[in-house]
Amino acid sequence: MTLIDERLEELKSKALACSDCPLAQTRTNVVFGEGNPNTPLVLVGEGPGANEDATGRPFVGRAGQLLDQCLAENRITRKHVYICNVVKCRACIIEGRSVKNRPPRQEEVSACYHWLKEQLEIIKPLVILSLGAPASNIIIHKDFKMTRERGIFFPTQYAESAIAALHPAYVLRQHGAEFEAARASLVADIAAARRKVMEIKKELAEKAAPQPENKPAPPQELSLF
Ligand code: SF4
Repeated sequence: MTLIDERLEELKSKALACSDCPLAQTRTNVVFGEGNPNTPLVLVGEGPGANEDATGRPFVGRAGQLLDQCLAENRITRKHVYICNVVKCRACIIEGRSVKNRPPRQEEVSACYHWLKEQLEIIKPLVILSLGAPASNIIIHKDFKMTRERGIFFPTQYAESAIAALHPAYVLRQHGAEFEAARASLVADIAAARRKVMEIKKELAEKAAPQPENKPAPPQELSLF
């Protein structure tokens, strides 16, 4: 276990007991996040839904399955990356026996923000892929517009670089050709994030150990790790 693992586990154990906002009253589980804490690539979504609330794991419903497929098309598994959300507990509306997801309120996002910030400060990823506009508003900038700024790299305080992609739940709501196009854009944005990780790693390696003139550079690694 690395120091990063230990620090993240310590933070997680505190977050699991959090009652800093009203979502604590309706949640089943705090969905802290999971994956490889030593990764250069972190994926951040908006918040957990019903399946995530029931299991305590991020992106495990249909949207999670689609995300896994899109990662796999880039030769990435959950063991390569870390996945979490801006808000750690499910936001929902309870009407009689019906429980429906709703977007987290601004005060809930504000109350929860410090967990995400601390998570990212511990992991120190090179690249963050924010899934959907609400996560991008936190990770990239507050006026982020998915239609104009998806797929573009931005500097961010949480990593060397960040890029936004469509949220897999949004992709699932599309039909026919729109679904195929949205799915393809998610695959492409994951690919771009992966390439960016490799670019940054190459730059850092070159800075750390400059190659003598006329000596060929060693082959670059082809995977994230
Ligand atoms: S959503 Fe965040 S701030 Fe609110 S109770 Fe859950 S962990 Fe705490």
